[in-house]
Amino acid sequence: MQSSLDVRNPATNEVIGTIPNAAPDDVDNFVNAAADILPTWEKTAASKRAVMFVNAASLMRARVDELAVLLTTEQGKPLREARDEILGSAHVFEYYASVCGSIPGDARNLPGYGYLNVVRKPLGVCAAIIPWNMPVIIFAWKAGAALACGNTVLAKPSKTASLTILKIAEAMHEGGFPKEALQIVTGSGEQTGSALITHPDVRHISFTGSVVSGKAVSLQAAPHLKKLTLELGGNDSFIVTKTADIDAAVKAAVRNRFYNCGQVCTSAKRILVDASLADEFVHKAEVMLSGYVVGNGLEKVNMGPLNNANQLALIEAFVEGVLDRDEAQLVYGGKRLDMPGNFYAPTLLKNVSPLAVSEEIFGPVMSVIPFGSADEALDIANSTMYGLGSSVWTSEISTARTFAEGLRCGVVWVNKHLTLPPEMPFGGVGSSGFGRENGRDFVYEYTEPKSILFG
Ligand code: NAD
Repeated sequence: MQSSLDVRNPATNEVIGTIPNAAPDDVDNFVNAAADILPTWEKTAASKRAVMFVNAASLMRARVDELAVLLTTEQGKPLREARDEILGSAHVFEYYASVCGSIPGDARNLPGYGYLNVVRKPLGVCAAIIPWNMPVIIFAWKAGAALACGNTVLAKPSKTASLTILKIAEAMHEGGFPKEALQIVTGSGEQTGSALITHPDVRHISFTGSVVSGKAVSLQAAPHLKKLTLELGGNDSFIVTKTADIDAAVKAAVRNRFYNCGQVCTSAKRILVDASLADEFVHKAEVMLSGYVVGNGLEKVNMGPLNNANQLALIEAFVEGVLDRDEAQLVYGGKRLDMPGNFYAPTLLKNVSPLAVSEEIFGPVMSVIPFGSADEALDIANSTMYGLGSSVWTSEISTARTFAEGLRCGVVWVNKHLTLPPEMPFGGVGSSGFGRENGRDFVYEYTEPKSILFG
């Protein structure tokens, strides 16, 4: 029987709504509906799908104020960031409108064999498993790509960030997407997520979340031989070399690290600074942070609360641990804030031992690690099991090239960090997962080739 789950405002801890906790029987009904409409949906003209994406994007833009307030209230991020996420997601749908008529194929004469035609077919019913940190844009990446390729989608948001996605789905249905082609299945990972992953008629799983959950999902999917796209954690390095514009680098590092209260997969989690610049960098970062206002995201603040109490406890334990073990020195913050909600002070640590941050720190902690040479910086940057993104800050093209070549990760930015246009393939290597979202690579994730050889 279906139960329900409370959704709380992380800034106040008040219950702001409930969501169904879908049981395996409910999941079965969702999957059956998605499978039944597949033959019709698959044959829908790409131009019609494009109009649906454009309509949904326009409705999201028209409703951005209301949607952003809801996103801030359930997720915690400042209203400005919530607006950016809604508008960015509308842009993702516009991107998929522009590409859904261009799913590539191949047609060639093979002398001696015949005429080869390769068409890319949709996979069928796809599951999109979504985390709580950037829920709307990650939903847009997955649903956009799957629907553009002619699949049907069952999206399971995190239990702490489902409400805005439910509203976006309403806009998509109003925009023309059939209800059965896009369904939101709310509930816990253990119950609802597992039921989706193990359902025999779900043929592809695109999962974004932690490495631990990603491994659990892989194990559950393996006996059913399902196709997987895994977007897991990151431990990005942000490398400030001797030739960097230090003011630009400090500004970008602080904005980036504390964006969404530090809960971004490609947040600049390890700030590697040339030793000759480290003191200046730390001082300038401290000055910036001392002006940071922390509070309810609906007010005029730089940073909101962490999304949930578990995340707050993890951050608190991490900072206490590294300071107790002398693995870092505290420059700023370093404590839970005395207000209702999951608030932690923006925190700056210096002289951090690289080993102390080999695991992903998913919260508002900037860890500055000094380095002596480019080789040492590359060794430190590549020393974790993750490989999502990294950036290098320099005014020399040769330095940019050295790092771009040497960094082991899915995305390298030069004098930038975190920007993820939908035109760019995004994903990681190593424990950050496999497969790519967006760019042109979405086609390989969400379709399979069928080769037809004419005699
Ligand atoms: P999580 O792994 O706890 O949960 C993610 C989603 O998976 C949720 O919807 C959850 O209900 C579901 N889930 C969990 N266990 C499951 C299981 N066994 N079977 C099926 N579903 C299951 O992650 P989170 O705490 O919501 O998000 C934070 C993590 O996500 C961080 O590690 C972060 O780096 C990562 N992340 C990665 C990217 C990326 O693109 N690489 C983007 C955002 C977040």
